Amino acid sequence: MASVELKNVAKSFGRVEAVRDVSLTIEDRELVVFVGPSGCGKSTLLRMIAGLEEITSGELMIGGKPMNAVAAADRGIAMVFQSYALYPHMTVAENMGFALKMLGTDKAEIDRKVAEAAGVLQIEELLGRKPRELSGGQRQRVAIGRAIVRQPDVFLFDEPLSNLDAGLRAQMRVEIARLHERLRTTMIYVTHDQVEAMTLADRIVILNRGKIEQQGSPLELYERPANRFVAGFLGQPRMNFIPTLAGPSQAGTTLAIAASGRAVLRLGEGVPVADGSEVELGVRPDAISIAGPGDDLAVPGRIVVVEHLGGSSLLYVQVDGLDQLLTLEQRGKTDFAKGQEIDLLFDPGQSHLFDGNGERIGS
Ligand code: ATP
Repeated sequence: MASVELKNVAKSFGRVEAVRDVSLTIEDRELVVFVGPSGCGKSTLLRMIAGLEEITSGELMIGGKPMNAVAAADRGIAMVFQSYALYPHMTVAENMGFALKMLGTDKAEIDRKVAEAAGVLQIEELLGRKPRELSGGQRQRVAIGRAIVRQPDVFLFDEPLSNLDAGLRAQMRVEIARLHERLRTTMIYVTHDQVEAMTLADRIVILNRGKIEQQGSPLELYERPANRFVAGFLGQPRMNFIPTLAGPSQAGTTLAIAASGRAVLRLGEGVPVADGSEVELGVRPDAISIAGPGDDLAVPGRIVVVEHLGGSSLLYVQVDGLDQLLTLEQRGKTDFAKGQEIDLLFDPGQSHLFDGNGERIGS
């Protein structure tokens, strides 16, 4: 069993509270991604689990055993860093086998484990090279190989792909997912990249200012963000946020753009929004469609910028009364033009409402 349990864990650096009261259980064999903006505390949290940073208060358990006072080397973990941290004077094979050599493992056993890990990562032909003779992607593979050789109970990854270009990052992401499938070891992965989080994680933990904003499966968080922060953080292109006012209409409560009074959405039964209240409407770019004639909830707009992406287009649309442009993602059809007038329709089933504190309203 290699679950990782955090109970009310906090970390202060002098007066900076880097991590505040985090409670979380990572199940055995789970791949959990910590994600959040720069400075949110994700690396500090990981480093506390690794034993590289002392825990200011709270409790850490790995495999059910208290770990606060256990040295990093004795925690049964292996960590892969953004900087690879390979020894430049050693070959790939020596780098990968180094930790076992330090433990006094015999040479045949080390060779066997190194060869096995090299096979998993398809780097057999690199074993005799020095790190300087490798590309960035190959170095990162070696760093991962070095972690595998140790057969840890828990793998920790600290932004391992940040130094790679976009193509290689996507490829390595798939390899890490496959590695998890294959090894079925508990993994904790830190990134600021929400795409990496969405694609890799069994469960995502979103951090902001040292605290957990929300945790859940990628789809749960995407489809039902608990607050405006999570809604805005996950999803590319970003969700549109529109200040609106709730008011009565013949068909029930309607939301209208606050600055122009233009109706945009009719609220369903049971949505707890009082007439006259201010509500922020969150709609993802692919949840806005282009209306045909005669829909009373269609909002007129004008295309200001078109980005043709091949299979889809991004439209940036000016709407009366809104300071910001709305982003629309349209699949297939690509003959939109700058200056074109279009009517926008918001999908009520994919609309999110947030109150003045940024908290989600309704289900
Ligand atoms: P990034 O994505 O930029 O690496 P992060 O989410 O990993 O950010 P942390 O590195 O965990 O953030 O830092 C959290 C907060 O703690 C930041 O405000 C940072 O400045 C502060 N901090 C981190 N390490 C130290 C330290 N050794 N001394 C003082 N403050 C620190």
